[in-house]
Amino acid sequence: LRRQEIPVEKMIDGILEGNKTMLSKAITLLESSNPDHFAKANAVVEKCLAQPNQSIRIGITGVPGVGKSSFIEVLGKTLTGLGKKVAVLAVDPTSSLSKGSILGDKTRMQTLAKDADAFIRPSPSGESLGGVARKTRESIILCEAAGFDVILVETVGVGQSETVVHSMVDFFLLLKLSGAGDELQGIKRGIMEMADAIAINKADGHNLQKAKLAETEFTRALHLYPPKENGWIPKVLRCSAMENTGIVEIWDMIQEFAGQSTQNGHFGKNRKTQNKNWFLQTVDEEMKQFFHRKKSFKSQRDSLLKDIESNKISPFYAAKTLLASLTQELK
Ligand code: GDP
Repeated sequence: LRRQEIPVEKMIDGILEGNKTMLSKAITLLESSNPDHFAKANAVVEKCLAQPNQSIRIGITGVPGVGKSSFIEVLGKTLTGLGKKVAVLAVDPTSSLSKGSILGDKTRMQTLAKDADAFIRPSPSGESLGGVARKTRESIILCEAAGFDVILVETVGVGQSETVVHSMVDFFLLLKLSGAGDELQGIKRGIMEMADAIAINKADGHNLQKAKLAETEFTRALHLYPPKENGWIPKVLRCSAMENTGIVEIWDMIQEFAGQSTQNGHFGKNRKTQNKNWFLQTVDEEMKQFFHRKKSFKSQRDSLLKDIESNKISPFYAAKTLLASLTQELK
């Protein structure tokens, strides 16, 4: 980028023509911490936001080894075979620490990576979950403007990353393995609630029987959750990324979801709610940062902390005192 700055207009034109190199370069701008790049990236995002799109955004989660990349590869190839353009993005907050637990190395999804109708981008790295999330979310907008109509967002589910991915997609798919009758153990409650579907992967060979049992058990468990506001009843399916079975059925189900929620208005409503939430969260975050950056903040905070430690002041009064003094400076 430094060697040859591409004008914003050229970048936008390239993206709108579906040029993957331009798309890649724009995402790199988006990920840069350089303020000039940020301004440029923002201009590109703004233009891309205005493009109408018929995309579906699908979040995919599951523990390492469940078969996410194998699944995405097979699903992706199935979709490009149907004439779709597929983008694969990732939210992996650990990637900065562990050199990437997902999508980090190029050996994954090799077949899909070579497909002209697919675009694969690893998780942005070196950032907090919030930063990674923002960048991935804006990358979705750019991919859609470039004509990608199925956006797959992968996450390993470290910390809050599932919640964050859930808040940027239309459909949330949880991949599971069948165990020995203990399927429901060790599953985070919140994830069951977020899932629009659970796919029991590796339902092949001598695993098939266990997978059928898991399917029954998960179906029963899902019934215990309150119905979703959009009227969708979460489904449980079996699949095998290795044998390519059950994959088309999963896509059919997602299309059924899209049809149903478009018809009852929830599809658009959900995206609008997500946009508003992202705005509100960003404002909250930026306000916090704004105060934290103020020079007087740290000294006042530390002195109040001492007062709290020695029981001189109530924590709530201390908080009010600090904020009153910081806002006073703004006047
Ligand atoms: P990820 O860590 O969730 O991305 O999982 P991978 O896609 O890397 O798969 C982990 C391992 O499970 C690999 O050795 C795959 O070959 C294997 N695997 C993935 N899908 C299937 C499947 O459907 N059936 C079987 N038997 N093995 C699978």
